[in-house]
Amino acid sequence: MTHAERAADFLLDEARTDWHDESLWQVRGKRDTIVHAIPEWEALRQLGSDIKDNVLSNLDTYLEQFERQATANGVTVHWAKDAAEHNRIVHSILARHRVNRIVKSKSMLTEECHLNQYLKQQGIEVIDTDLGERIIQLRKEPPSHIVMPAIHLKKEEIGQLFYEQLGTDEGASDPQYLTEAARQHLREKFLAAKAAITGVNFAVAETGGIVVCTNEGNADMGVHLAPVQIHCMGIEKVIPQAEHLGVFTRLLGRSATGQPITIYTSHHHRPKEGGEMHVVIVDNGRTEQLGREEFRNSLKCIRCGACMNTCPIYRRSGGHSYDHTIPGPIGSILSPGIDLKKHGDLAFASTLCGSCSDVCPVKIDIHDQLYKWRQMVSEEGLLPKTKTIPLAGAGTVLSHNGLYNIMGKAARVALSHAPRVLVYNGMNPWGKTRELPEVPKESFKEWYARTHKSKF
Ligand code: SF4
Repeated sequence: MTHAERAADFLLDEARTDWHDESLWQVRGKRDTIVHAIPEWEALRQLGSDIKDNVLSNLDTYLEQFERQATANGVTVHWAKDAAEHNRIVHSILARHRVNRIVKSKSMLTEECHLNQYLKQQGIEVIDTDLGERIIQLRKEPPSHIVMPAIHLKKEEIGQLFYEQLGTDEGASDPQYLTEAARQHLREKFLAAKAAITGVNFAVAETGGIVVCTNEGNADMGVHLAPVQIHCMGIEKVIPQAEHLGVFTRLLGRSATGQPITIYTSHHHRPKEGGEMHVVIVDNGRTEQLGREEFRNSLKCIRCGACMNTCPIYRRSGGHSYDHTIPGPIGSILSPGIDLKKHGDLAFASTLCGSCSDVCPVKIDIHDQLYKWRQMVSEEGLLPKTKTIPLAGAGTVLSHNGLYNIMGKAARVALSHAPRVLVYNGMNPWGKTRELPEVPKESFKEWYARTHKSKF
């Protein structure tokens, strides 16, 4: 199925679509308010972008420095070239400790590597401890947003889910009651877990420490209680020095949820006494993306989700319509690099309005990259005939003045007299929800020539 077909499914529930759209727009509004409260916001964005430029140009150096420092701190550092190797490494650590149940905080990298499914096949139970992640895990769904994974669900649906799976009162949908029920349910899991897995927001090359940002404290709870802690990160998460952290934590909280800082910004430098700390550094196609000059900027992403909250297409098509771990505008420029044939249509899931680039805290030129991916899709011959044939015709007409005038006149006559079904039918998805304006008697050129005769 294409993005458009999946989006059509989401749009069938009009009330949900409106509510999804409004909820995300509210988050965008909160972001705007807090961002406008600090005069140096644009300078901060530029600084964040410049630091990331430096990181991308010296990635090997910073990663090796991180490994040296982390190892000196007593951390075991692992390297994984792809998702399969990442999963094998995590499993081997767990197998060595005979762990059959783990707690995991939100990590888009482990989603990307399908770690949960892999560990389940190996007989290991994975409990996602972020509330939104736990909800979608109970529903056996992937996340629909990178910061708010269950944003597509109404509180009544969550109430029903908890009634069926956690034994809460039937019909209860009060968020405070449901959250308390989730806390009690998760507390047992935290206490029983022998290992905890987290993602990594930032890895500091200078110190060898990692930073994990959550709003629920669930990553901290898991890591502090379990003797074995495993942190999984993409190679692009490294930053040079501790002093750069302040730049990114200020950008991240404000852009993600309109908060001055994420509630729990936790630093982990070494294993607990008697415990083990592992960091798994994963490539999984990132080096290839780094080598694509026009698209390497996408690796600057700090996963704030702001581009999703602002995108008119994402807000009205839902995260699942992207069929990729990272949805929305940033997902649409990352996924074609992984599989152009499968995800090439995502480059067209955009109005190219540029709002995503405007809000991006690290100034990724997202809409320009979407446009470039469109050209790549076309050059690779992956555009459907329904697009290539009309576009070839339009190209011929638009490049010949006389032909353009004739076709314009013919279209005006045809549209004025043709039966409605010729224009508004199943072959024309544009016309399903729109009406053409009234057809004018003359073209703009004719009107201009007639009304501005004296000036020629
Ligand atoms: S591309 Fe920019 S706005 Fe979108 S998630 Fe990444 S950092 Fe945030």
